[in-house]
Amino acid sequence: NTATLISGRELARQIHREVQSEILEMVAQGYRRPHLSVILVGNDPASHCYVRNKTRTATALGMSSSTVFRPESVSQDELLDLIDSMNRERRVSGVLVQLPLPEHISERAVCNAVAPEKDVDGFHIVNVGKLSLDQRCMIPATASAVWEIIRRTGIETVGKNVVVVGRSKNVGMPIAMLLHSDRRHERPGGDATVTITHRCTPRPQLKEISRLADIIISAAGVPHLITADMVKEGAAVIDVGINRVQNTTSGELCLVGDVDFEGVREKAAFITPVPGGVGPMTIAMHVWNEGLLEQL
Ligand code: ADP
Repeated sequence: NTATLISGRELARQIHREVQSEILEMVAQGYRRPHLSVILVGNDPASHCYVRNKTRTATALGMSSSTVFRPESVSQDELLDLIDSMNRERRVSGVLVQLPLPEHISERAVCNAVAPEKDVDGFHIVNVGKLSLDQRCMIPATASAVWEIIRRTGIETVGKNVVVVGRSKNVGMPIAMLLHSDRRHERPGGDATVTITHRCTPRPQLKEISRLADIIISAAGVPHLITADMVKEGAAVIDVGINRVQNTTSGELCLVGDVDFEGVREKAAFITPVPGGVGPMTIAMHVWNEGLLEQL
């Protein structure tokens, strides 16, 4: 009795089609074509890869985009000025500053400099506040990815036990925020009973809690954290972890999640793979945010 595999790639294609037709329709109605302006600091290959992915997808779906590159040595003031000019430019509908930023720059100051209505990442303090108050807002892409996976797979959340493993402000916290909140509010929530666990949760405690969970969402960045003995029969397991580990036999670097996939798939009813699960859906939801900005 193995779990149904949730294909993040397939769901992402679905989202892409929806965004594309939405943009077609908007442009046909005389709205401006959405334009994404990206700021990329330094030369971290992973960051360059993410940005290329996002701008390519945006363009493929009918948006326009531009990327401004700055060296690692850029000053915080220069970044803030750059963001300010993008905020003012009418043609720019979305502004994205790729994180992480160098040590000498305050990410909080940078996130708060982006106009909230152009904040595709949903990291501005106003968007975080609105999310916490169940108001309509820009939702961080990873959290919407998890939400859409649950919705589109038809997994029930109302009154269910959910455990969110990890409490980061960009990932674990917004996921928990969406799932615990009231479905009748302006930004509908999942009405689940949510437990958040983190670094200080003793492992035996984590196991006790996760065994009661109807849905386990792991965003800890710890390979093999969630094993079959921690999973209730028939649970849904969503793996947000992205960990680069070395294969013990071949020595090759490969991508694994937080979930012991082979073991857990024998117990769970639904499971997301890594890669091919939450990852592609996060990119899709990011593009969704970009396409929707004008309407917010
Ligand atoms: P992300 O941005 O993907 O959430 P972070 O590295 O910022 O990743 O955060 C990892 C989160 O996982 C932190 O909230 C941390 O407390 C949590 N975490 C780390 N180890 C464990 C563990 N063994 N059990 C539960 N949570 C953990």
